[in-house]
Amino acid sequence: MLLNNDQNCGWINNLDKRSIIQSINKNLNCDFMIVGAGFTGLSVARKLGQIEKNKKIILVDAQLAGEGASSRNSGYLVDTTLNDGFTSNKDVNNYKKKAKIYEQGILAVKKFVKEHQVECEWNDAGKYFASSDLSDENKVNNFSKILSSLNYKNEILFQKDLNNRLGTNFYKIAVYTNGGVLLHPGKLARAMVDTLPDNVLLYENSPLVSWKKRNNKIECNFKNNIIEADKIIFCTNGFLSSQGIQKNYSFPITLTASMTRPLNDNEYQSIGKPKEWGVLPIKPMGATIRMTKDKRFLIRNTAELNNPHTMKSSDLLKRVKIHEEGLKKRFPFFKNNFIESSWSGVVCRSRNSSQIFEKIDNNIYAAGCYNGSGIGVGTLFGEQISLMASNQDSKLISMIEDRIKPTWLPPQPLLNIGIYFRLLYERLKASGEV
Ligand SMILES: Cc1cc2nc3c(=O)[nH]c(=O)nc-3n(C[C@H](O)[C@H](O)[C@H](O)COP(=O)(O)OP(=O)(O)OC[C@H]3O[C@@H](n4cnc5c(N)ncnc54)[C@H](O)[C@@H]3O)c2cc1C
Repeated sequence: MLLNNDQNCGWINNLDKRSIIQSINKNLNCDFMIVGAGFTGLSVARKLGQIEKNKKIILVDAQLAGEGASSRNSGYLVDTTLNDGFTSNKDVNNYKKKAKIYEQGILAVKKFVKEHQVECEWNDAGKYFASSDLSDENKVNNFSKILSSLNYKNEILFQKDLNNRLGTNFYKIAVYTNGGVLLHPGKLARAMVDTLPDNVLLYENSPLVSWKKRNNKIECNFKNNIIEADKIIFCTNGFLSSQGIQKNYSFPITLTASMTRPLNDNEYQSIGKPKEWGVLPIKPMGATIRMTKDKRFLIRNTAELNNPHTMKSSDLLKRVKIHEEGLKKRFPFFKNNFIESSWSGVVCRSRNSSQIFEKIDNNIYAAGCYNGSGIGVGTLFGEQISLMASNQDSKLISMIEDRIKPTWLPPQPLLNIGIYFRLLYERLKASGEV
């Protein structure tokens, strides 16, 4: 098995190597400074580049642009989610607001993909919210009712149909919704890097070390240099709180994922030659598992309180064992050495699963905290926060601001203790689903 952490994300390895990579090597100043070049920061840069043509715009990232969580995710561009606390009827109104944001997120990505003719394996495949535990039937029925009341087409499926569609009899019950897209996140992120406007200066492998306000400017400190900016937009998602942004409203969670080799013809035939599919777990800590266009499986079944840019190889290897078990349970023909790549990535969560979209202070803005669903919302929030930073208004800003905001979190160490036990509890509840 090939394992060299953070050099071994299957999506990223599938891309051409980039040649022109520039890091910060002198002091600079600019009108707009964007920190973090994932879907959010790249979308801020794209939009600002269009609307502020004569301004100096700098985009920095601690690693290669787009190669953080934006390329390391499972590639579900979702229209609806289940595990975000909005599943009881009394919260249907909030669920509706959130779904509207998802809808606009999909449209924002769609528009980008169309405009730039991006090939990112876009597939309107819908998704399955599935469980191997029939005692989840109530949750399934409830969710299906909420989706129907909001006019989202959905169907409840049981083991036989699921076996036919997914090629495994592991799942006993699911809600299928035909909304949402499966895509190759690395190709989408790379396209956003490749199409950055000419008036955006991109600096990579350049981590922001600290920042402060000084004489109406924002002073950003890098290892050996300083950038002075008139305005700053933080787009670092899981790293927002460590940069002092909305510190008591979000926290990072580290996920790990693995991708298998492609199935051979016999294996593919043996599971009934299903079309590309994606399953999201009904139990929050269950596995996300997807069959890709080129007949590989991707699995994500860990979530932990840990916030490294890179996870140590030895730690990652332990998580890979859990991925292997999850895959063997669903596809017993997998024996040894079937995983080709494994990686970790950092996401951002809030207590009530709401997102951050804020003017933090004069000339300081932040967007992030997508609770594991940031492909579309990150693209949308990036575009809209850039309008806000250029003192423009839009209907979409009003729609975003109408959402419920993240609720306050207790201070450390209480916060980490609370998260640790919550994850442990959810993990135990979902032990059969990983
Ligand atoms: C395994 C996994 C599976 C996921 N599955 C899905 C999915 O199926 N669908 C979905 O919608 N979402 C999914 N997500 C979440 C999704 O990837 C994120 O919501 C999305 O990437 C957020 O985009 P972003 O640009 O805000 O943040 P990121 O992509 O995290 O980008 C932030 C950037 O900030 C940079 N940065 C951090 N600190 C600094 C610093 N000090 N200086 C400079 N730069 C810095 C980082 O290097 C990074 O590139 C998943 C995430 C993971 C890890």
